[in-house]
Amino acid sequence: MLLKIHVYNRVKTDKYFGFDFNFKIKTMETKTCLHCKKIIKGRTDKKFCDDYCRNIFNNQLKSTTNNLVRNTNNILGKNRRIIESFFEEEINYIKIKKEILINNGFLFSYNTKSKKLAKGAYIYYCYDYAFLPISEDYYILIKEI
Ligand SMILES: [Zn+2]
Repeated sequence: MLLKIHVYNRVKTDKYFGFDFNFKIKTMETKTCLHCKKIIKGRTDKKFCDDYCRNIFNNQLKSTTNNLVRNTNNILGKNRRIIESFFEEEINYIKIKKEILINNGFLFSYNTKSKKLAKGAYIYYCYDYAFLPISEDYYILIKEI
């Protein structure tokens, strides 16, 4: 806390404090644990107090990444189920109102790949299905065979 206040003061007012103040900053440099934020004693290249703090920090980082992957997968899975729900046997493509997809919770910005078509249009894929905007209000859903 003390360190932060001094750094702030330096940026704002170091003209008034001059050399003396800058010298103080240098001697006050400390490293804090990335997990518990306590001041680390010993080697300056250390990032954590001990293995306990390192393990907790790394596990939290991993679970954040896992959550991101899980959420994205869930959205893609839901998008696929929504598209699939409109298909019956023997049908390979459907023209559908964008509004219907929105009302079902479809999220257009999530896809598994996209391809540029002629005239700058794009077709988007959701696993084995594709969705293609054909106007402001309509999409074509395609079942890949
Ligand atoms: Zn710690």
